[in-house]
Amino acid sequence: QAKSKGKSAYQRFSPEMKENSHERIQIESRLRRALELDELQLYYQPIVEAKTGRVVGTEALIRWNNPAMGIVSPDKFIPLAEETGLIIPIGNWVLQTACRDMKRWQEETGIDFLVAVNVSPRQFRDASFVRTVLDALKTNELEPKHLELEITERLILDDSIETSDILRTLDKHGVRLSVDDFGTGYSALGYLKSYPFDTLKIDKSFVQDVINEAEDAALVTAIITMAHSLGLEVIAEGVEEQEQLVFLREHNCDCAQGYLFSKPVTASEFKLWLTENHKRTA
Ligand code: C2E
Ligand code: MG
Ligand code: MG
Ligand code: MG
Repeated sequence: QAKSKGKSAYQRFSPEMKENSHERIQIESRLRRALELDELQLYYQPIVEAKTGRVVGTEALIRWNNPAMGIVSPDKFIPLAEETGLIIPIGNWVLQTACRDMKRWQEETGIDFLVAVNVSPRQFRDASFVRTVLDALKTNELEPKHLELEITERLILDDSIETSDILRTLDKHGVRLSVDDFGTGYSALGYLKSYPFDTLKIDKSFVQDVINEAEDAALVTAIITMAHSLGLEVIAEGVEEQEQLVFLREHNCDCAQGYLFSKPVTASEFKLWLTENHKRTA
């Protein structure tokens, strides 16, 4: 943060700044050791078919469990991991772990669904990214169609030949691709027709007020219609209330994800949810 602002006299002598940068350095050195100390953990949140409530996928959401800091949410350390490059080994770990967990659930339950993994810009642009993805699939003997990579609009925004090449290669290998946080990136829409996305995730900020705000209802309805005309599936994020789900169903939204179905939970808790869901919706 301070780096981008330059070194004004105020910043140099601000005691608050000093404290912040000290804290930052401390967190950074802890994060460097998080992988080897086995402090990272994946939580999982189900994605369900809106009409039936049947599971179609699960999103892997990283947590950092540090003895000194407790459970740290990704918003607090993924940006730092991006800046320092630590996102490369962390991202590899996420891919391997998510594929391994998914393979095990399939073998143990026989239920057909996919795992969605978040990818950050620096990780996506790393020269070895495609290899890393294919390697995670191969090592864990997971079919590519059971992996979906979630890419934010922000990443697509600074679009380049590179971005489109990487997406195309992944698509050719049969990996599924989704646009995460759709509607928050101030991006032009042209990429939706030229890039090989399968799924569009409507950001939870639109879903939150879909019942009370006519404008949000209009936006959500329009996004669903547009996505369908482009051949994309739609997932609504952040569904917390039954009324929101009813609205989404009425407007043909394909899938939903949110606290209404389950909060993100540990892998073993998710497996319990999974078998319960399967019994209920079979
Ligand atoms: P995201 O991919 O958009 O994930 C959805 C976020 O919404 C998650 O926050 C989830 O816990 C939260 N959420 C789910 N249902 C509800 C709901 O009904 N209401 C509300 N208010 N929130 C809900 P989380 O787990 O804190 O993750 C935050 C962000 O961190 C993610 O946003 C994603 O961008 C990033 N992230 C998480 N795991 C990873 C990872 O493994 N790698 C990378 N690069 N980024 C990750
Ligand atoms: Mg996501
Ligand atoms: Mg595809
Ligand atoms: Mg999202």
